[in-house]
Amino acid sequence: MDTTNFNINQLVRENIKGLQPYSSARDEYSDSSTQDMVFLDANENPFENGVNRYPDPQQNQVKEILSKLKKVAPKNIVLGNGSDEILDLIFRAFCEPNIDNIITLPPTYGMYSVLANINAIENTKVLLTDRFQPKVTEILKHVNPRTKILFLCSPNNPSGNSFSTEKVETLLGEFKGLVVIDEAYIDFSDEKSWLERLEEFPNLIITQTLSKAYGLAGIRLGVCYASQEIISILNKIKPPYNVNELTQQRAVERLSKAEEVSLEILEIKNQRTALISRLETIPFIQKIYPTACNFVLIKVDDATKRYQQLIAKGIVIRNRTTQPLCENCLRITIGTEEENTTLWNALKEL
Ligand SMILES: *Cc1c(COP(=O)(O)O)cnc(C)c1O
Repeated sequence: MDTTNFNINQLVRENIKGLQPYSSARDEYSDSSTQDMVFLDANENPFENGVNRYPDPQQNQVKEILSKLKKVAPKNIVLGNGSDEILDLIFRAFCEPNIDNIITLPPTYGMYSVLANINAIENTKVLLTDRFQPKVTEILKHVNPRTKILFLCSPNNPSGNSFSTEKVETLLGEFKGLVVIDEAYIDFSDEKSWLERLEEFPNLIITQTLSKAYGLAGIRLGVCYASQEIISILNKIKPPYNVNELTQQRAVERLSKAEEVSLEILEIKNQRTALISRLETIPFIQKIYPTACNFVLIKVDDATKRYQQLIAKGIVIRNRTTQPLCENCLRITIGTEEENTTLWNALKEL
């Protein structure tokens, strides 16, 4: 993309441009140098219990650690209550209800479509190819002046594969709106994150999460990386205390144990390989799709029947048969060795 041509102000909603954000008490004095000050500004209960104070609205400690891990400056990061909140903030900052539209590439993560509906934004769906790659020419044909965002989920849920680098590059260069690359599963992939190329593309937004590889789905922490301009717009509209104190503490704790996280990721990847070779021996499994995620998509003879049979044996997987290009497909999350063995034994008995 010709970066001199890109102007974020042409994409942001009018009401957001002039918005004066809520100024919270803790915005002004929250760093460690203020620790021995007396805080009588936020109507908190003064009796210490660990969480009687409002949390840091900028989550500086979490961002510092993420910044070192991911090699991205804190000013290029915004955090949310799960990536779902991040995605919603992006809609609300850039998409004018009943006027603007977005493009998504089914089969993909269901939240893009849900959020489009909530925000009254038209969702133009351009199916992936049968190998689950973006149809670049067709996507670009569907762009109009009101197309604000293109959502790329790579590696993609539920197919499991990563999108071709050249195709994503072309889309980033040719599409003049924002390209959101959802990298929820990037830590399970051997492909590089698009984070390395953030500075090259002013229209690029990358979302990641602590819900999958980092094992913290319960704390709800989503991460968004983008240009400083985009980040400051999102910061302006986010609820001031959107990431609570307990979440910030647990995130700092976990992010400081990079070694432990890598070992778990490695184990999940080993289990993935082991499970796939076992699945290959099951006669009614017709296809096992390549995966860069902590799940695998398979095609079976009758997805709904097999799904029900597994439920009867107390095993819950995801039936994706109603999704486009996913007829008779089931999505299986990689569990522990024991859980995967339970699944395999159940499959053998069917
Ligand atoms: C699981 C998942 C997420 C995670 O969302 P959180 O709100 O951060 O838990 C995001 N995108 C995709 C594609 C996912 O599958």
